[in-house]
Amino acid sequence: MAIIVLLIIYSCKQEISSVTELNASNEKNNLSRAKISASVPTPYEVATWSGFRNAAISYTFDDNCTNQLAIAIPSMNTYGFKGTLFTITNSSWRPNWQGLRTAANNGHEVASHTMSHANMNTLSSAQQTSEITGSANAISTNVGVTPRTLAWPNCNLGSTSIAQQTYIAARGCSGQIEPSTPANVMNISSLICGSAGSVKTNADFQSRANSAFNSKGWAIFLIHGIDNDGGYSPLSSTEFRNSLLFFNANPSKFWVASFGSVVKYIAERNAVTLTQTASNTTSISLTVSDNLNSTIYNVPLTVRRPLPSGWANATVTQNGTTVYSSKVTINAVPYIMFNAVPDAGEIRIMRQ
Ligand SMILES: [Zn+2]
Repeated sequence: MAIIVLLIIYSCKQEISSVTELNASNEKNNLSRAKISASVPTPYEVATWSGFRNAAISYTFDDNCTNQLAIAIPSMNTYGFKGTLFTITNSSWRPNWQGLRTAANNGHEVASHTMSHANMNTLSSAQQTSEITGSANAISTNVGVTPRTLAWPNCNLGSTSIAQQTYIAARGCSGQIEPSTPANVMNISSLICGSAGSVKTNADFQSRANSAFNSKGWAIFLIHGIDNDGGYSPLSSTEFRNSLLFFNANPSKFWVASFGSVVKYIAERNAVTLTQTASNTTSISLTVSDNLNSTIYNVPLTVRRPLPSGWANATVTQNGTTVYSSKVTINAVPYIMFNAVPDAGEIRIMRQ
């Protein structure tokens, strides 16, 4: 009964893609708990995915295979797409720290694939803690960023409570498209690419992306080797590049973003409180906040509302700085759509 009442309250305030997102089994993880606290008053809407796109797409790269930095990341840079490099930090795995620093400086996520690639479910708690914190420290020291997410080696889950002390989310590889709010943030599914996986060709990338589009979900691709770099399950660089071409040709349908950025977006969207604080004939002020650590959760959410009657257009600022905004028409109603980072200063919508 309590869940039904919550659903009714919630659905009045914000779009909700699936009733199952709020089922009891989800209440054990942070993302679902946060969702219940989202508060977005009419006529505002917060997008399920950035830009009100219908699906999120993430490219993730494991095991330090050399063509990831030599071919894949430069190809993604061509289109401004950001990927995630799940890095093994022990020197025997030859992490390319200089290349990883360059990728991080270009906005790609450098995250953890542990120190030694051990099966975490075979290790003691102390050994797991060492793998978790040791890899985070190595990335912080050598790349200059704090890694926020983890990929489980060989998709074998260790202690999620140990992992959660250092990371906000972890990736497995059980082969499903994730819903708009994953059931377990410490075991987010992915789709294995290349010769040993289910995603081999550009057509395979497109079919998984279209599945995500139809379910308003999130497709996470897991790539190891590329061409002849010796990595596991090599993927053709031609097929990979063609998949990027497809996403670049469909920018209003698919949000391509790093694993960590999507995790942060989900948490913020589910915890957001939007409050209109002032309104007159030329300007509207509002705040967008959440209950999350702003040092980590700093990804912009996309918000929209109908333009007030008589307004031809609007510009939007946050904390005095112009942010991305766009006039869009939905069912013949003109809207202003804009990006806002929770807890990063007042939003002002100004009549144009
Ligand atoms: Zn691996």
